[in-house]
Amino acid sequence: MLSYQHIYHAGNAADVHKHAALALVLDYLTRKDKPLSYLETHAGRGLYDLSAPEAVKTGEAAQGIARLHASFAKDHPYTTALAATPDGLYPGSPAIARALLRPTDTLHLAELHPQEYAALRQNLRGPHIQTYNQDGLELAQSLCPPTPRRGVMLVDPSYEIKADYAQIPKWLSALTRKWNVGIVMIWYPILNSGAQAPMVRALQSDHPEALTHEVRFPPARDGHRMVGSGLFVVNPPYGLASDLRRLTALFRALG
Ligand code: SAM
Repeated sequence: MLSYQHIYHAGNAADVHKHAALALVLDYLTRKDKPLSYLETHAGRGLYDLSAPEAVKTGEAAQGIARLHASFAKDHPYTTALAATPDGLYPGSPAIARALLRPTDTLHLAELHPQEYAALRQNLRGPHIQTYNQDGLELAQSLCPPTPRRGVMLVDPSYEIKADYAQIPKWLSALTRKWNVGIVMIWYPILNSGAQAPMVRALQSDHPEALTHEVRFPPARDGHRMVGSGLFVVNPPYGLASDLRRLTALFRALG
């Protein structure tokens, strides 16, 4: 049974980290005319109303995007994606991809929760967008290598089930055997318990050339276990590492 709903967390500091990094990667990839594939294993609903009671209740967006938005340069691709989103809404990762990709690119978006999936289908429509109401990790294995082969996959589980941490390294090894040219971005929370650490060590040992980028921020409220956000990027575009270092500096301003 899925209980996680991203509306409670949309726009938090971790979302900003993941979405800004995704926007940078898409910006690199779209500098060439060649079409590409964008795949998401855990898409969510795509668009979020941050004035909804659920978002206001946690106050996470107030600590995240509301404080960080102005720090992004006008020409940062994340700023471009935010500006392309209808007024009053916050773009989830599928909407960021739609904003930065071209009609010649193909989007594959998986979301398992029936209501989130219904909202995703409504919010993300287009002849080049395919949505799937099924397990995203399984779907990814069946679609890879995608057509076109050039592209990026975002893996953004909610880690509701502790087994997710153990599953991801094995899943990634199988995936990269099929799709060795793909950029794969795996998001993970940095928890004060350190529960994510064995997974990160396993990923780094299996993919020594990959990039790990982490930012820290104060917990969204007293007792909140998440104290930072991490991204593990296989086949990172050249230049991404230095862009992400600039992102680290921006997060330092959060204290
Ligand atoms: N990537 C989204 C964004 O940045 O806007 C947020 C995704 S949210 C962290 C995780 C989503 O994964 C939830 O909407 C949840 O319903 C969905 N989910 C959970 N298990 C899944 C699975 N096995 N396959 C696909 N989606 C799943």
